[in-house]
Amino acid sequence: MSSTDRIYNFSAGPSMLPLPVLEQAAQEMTNYRGSGMSVMEMSHRSKVYIDIFNETKADFKRLLKVPDTHEVIFMQGGATLQFSAVPLNLIGSTGKADYAITGNFSDLAMQEAQKYGEISIVCSSADKNHSYIPSQDELKISSDASYFHYCANNTVFGTEWKYIPETGSIPIVSDMSSNILSKPIDVSKYGVIYAGAQKNMGPAGLAVVIVDKSLTGKELPSTPKLLSYQVMVDTDSMHNTPACYTIYILGLTLKWLETQGGVEGMEKLKTDKAKILYDVIDNSSLFKGCAEIPARSDMNVTFRTGSDELDDKFVNESTAAGFDNLKGHRAAGGMRASIYNAMPVEGVSALADFMRNFEINNK
Ligand SMILES: *Cc1c(COP(=O)(O)O)cnc(C)c1O
Repeated sequence: MSSTDRIYNFSAGPSMLPLPVLEQAAQEMTNYRGSGMSVMEMSHRSKVYIDIFNETKADFKRLLKVPDTHEVIFMQGGATLQFSAVPLNLIGSTGKADYAITGNFSDLAMQEAQKYGEISIVCSSADKNHSYIPSQDELKISSDASYFHYCANNTVFGTEWKYIPETGSIPIVSDMSSNILSKPIDVSKYGVIYAGAQKNMGPAGLAVVIVDKSLTGKELPSTPKLLSYQVMVDTDSMHNTPACYTIYILGLTLKWLETQGGVEGMEKLKTDKAKILYDVIDNSSLFKGCAEIPARSDMNVTFRTGSDELDDKFVNESTAAGFDNLKGHRAAGGMRASIYNAMPVEGVSALADFMRNFEINNK
């Protein structure tokens, strides 16, 4: 296998990165643009690195149209550490917060927040194994919540919120780990948006956080300095050494995204890619989608055959055919095809062909 002879990797995360990004990183690995060193080896305070950092942040802000009211910060610990950072920074205003439970990650976020205040579950899709997204009418937002938290795309169950919840004056916090940069978003509607990098942005370990600056500076006294949004804003994410190399890869991914038409280009592409797989599922007498149609995610397509044995056979045969990581999450079972920004449409079409053939051969 040559270094560019790659398989279609449908992993939910860490997941595929664009090949041009990997190639450029490889080319710049030992001597970054005449600096005589790799990005991994340079001081985070050096001009050459500060340029990388500033450009990455500026590109991110431009691509997602982040307004001046909000700041973009780079934190470590992935999305999961934000499950703690969010309550530590925000719950102090009333001691209470609202959580929507639509999958395992929102549930984990809620459990963490319970350590720091009184949490109210304003809706839950657990009654139908997280196969749907509750409607606005079903959200029982508290009048005294410090914030309302929801997970915009449920990576495990394959559902996605198709609307921004209406919460009145309560700030909205959203975990967008698995659908950030897949479409334009109105950032001004959010108090905090956070996302782990390893689905649509870069290597794991980094969290990109977009925070409304008017919400910072109210953290609980016990908040670790590194988890304080105010400290991160004040130090431009450099209170300590940031995840330098990961931020550099994010920067390359953003440059690639720009060549693909930005988030608007990604929205068109992801809609087309998801339709290819959902069309196979909807026209199949073997495969059934796990999510209810109005809630289906364009990033994580979950499906099953109805037989665990046949699901296993599908996973094994698809792996042998060069489609990796199609086994569903252990909490959901069945199959899951994660088709983030870097998955080319050819990969999705090839999987659709494989699925149709599998159905013919397993009648
Ligand atoms: C992957 C994921 C997480 C966890 O991310 P880590 O970086 O592993 O902490 C949290 N939320 C969502 C929606 C995810 O997809």
